[in-house]
Amino acid sequence: MSNEIVTKVLESLRTKVSDFNYRNWFQNLQWEYSESNQVTVKVPSRFIKDWITDHYLELIKFEFFRQTEQEHTIIFKVERVVNRTMELFPEELKTTQVVPQAKPPVSVNVMAQKMSAPFGFNLKYRLDNFVVGTSNQLVHAACQAVARQPGISYNPFYIYGGVGLGKTHLLNAIGLEVHKLHPTWRIVSITGERFTNEVIGAIRFGKTDELRRKYRDTCDLLLIDDIQFIAGKDRTQEEFFHTFNTLYEARKQIVLASDSLPRNIAKLEERLKSRFSWGLMADIQSPDYETRMAILKRKAEEERVSLSDSVCSFIAEHVTTNVRELEGALVRVSAFASLAKLPVTLDLAQEVLKDIMHPSRSNLSVEMVQQAVADFYNLKISDLKSHRRHQSLALPRHIAMYLCKKHLEASLPEIGERFGGKDHTTVLHAVQKIQSHLETNTSLKGDVILLQKSLGV
Ligand code: ADP
Ligand code: MG
Repeated sequence: MSNEIVTKVLESLRTKVSDFNYRNWFQNLQWEYSESNQVTVKVPSRFIKDWITDHYLELIKFEFFRQTEQEHTIIFKVERVVNRTMELFPEELKTTQVVPQAKPPVSVNVMAQKMSAPFGFNLKYRLDNFVVGTSNQLVHAACQAVARQPGISYNPFYIYGGVGLGKTHLLNAIGLEVHKLHPTWRIVSITGERFTNEVIGAIRFGKTDELRRKYRDTCDLLLIDDIQFIAGKDRTQEEFFHTFNTLYEARKQIVLASDSLPRNIAKLEERLKSRFSWGLMADIQSPDYETRMAILKRKAEEERVSLSDSVCSFIAEHVTTNVRELEGALVRVSAFASLAKLPVTLDLAQEVLKDIMHPSRSNLSVEMVQQAVADFYNLKISDLKSHRRHQSLALPRHIAMYLCKKHLEASLPEIGERFGGKDHTTVLHAVQKIQSHLETNTSLKGDVILLQKSLGV
């Protein structure tokens, strides 16, 4: 009996999601139904659990409700696959005893991390693996110059740019390079936030002398990331001002990274603003398409993911804001492929990055909702805007209004206006009607879930 329910639910799910998704997300899971309206789904990894929860939980719950007329609790349990479950897996999965984790291949990175990193630097972020393009040429060249002749040409060296564009990578790279070229140099690398905390701690425990020694006397190269953090913190700025002066006079190299130009950092003391501008300031811009392609190829190589040109350009075309997101997209696609034991094809990348490509919500419009509802019920948009009250038109019209109210910032009068100039009370009535029917009418609920899915909300 309980198995039958699960089977029916799966059959129904099969008709509602693409083959691709069905195979990857539903077919291979182990479903356990208990009479107390609880369903435990054993999933092979945390990744799959999160994915299903985000994308399909509502739909699954709805299907159980449709089969039984009762609400169910769905619990996902992450479990390594035992032999019994392996039977459920298709042939190609049987070879693995333990479920595929998003196992990072043994790559340069992993090996690098195992080697000791001086001064806590990360061996992953080097000058030689920083991909250079027009957006970051200057800053990269300056980093090289600074690392070769610290304290001489560009002091201080101030790097600025938006989030995820490689500032931290470059600071780390300078540290590694200086250490390589000048092994005896004492390097201090810290973030503005930690520096602030150290100042607070030093004051509190009467250890300011120690702090000064660390930053002023026993430091040949000072790297501070996210320096904007000290703005508005008086004692920290005071302390940093003196540190800066001491190091600068002793011709020690200072490198700072920040999200904006000194003059645009609110509450940063004037004397610091001017000092930060004494040396070289270089900005990092968002990478252009060619650079994004090059970065992706480099990262894929480092992670030993084989990436075709079509997948690569697909990602580079759609993820444009910053490098961290670019990497995130690559990791997502390759983790997905490795977990699902599928090759990294364009189809797969499109599926996995659907959410990124349609961050929807913000750009969802009344027209899009109307179009989706019209398509769904085989109507024309003009039917939804008309004043005809036949049930076959009224219900879709009300659903469309409900979806607009729920997912758009639009007000009731605005929505009314866009539906052929209807009164706001008409819209309110429609929204309330759908809301109350949703609680009892499972077929309506199913329609709404599917419509929301098609709109990506
Ligand atoms: P920021 O500090 O500017 O916010 P990060 O230095 O943390 O950015 O960079 C985010 C990620 O992007 C890191 O993994 C970094 O290695 C990578 N990255 C950024 N720019 C490049 C580049 N030009 N070449 C290779 N990797 C890059
Ligand atoms: Mg950073």
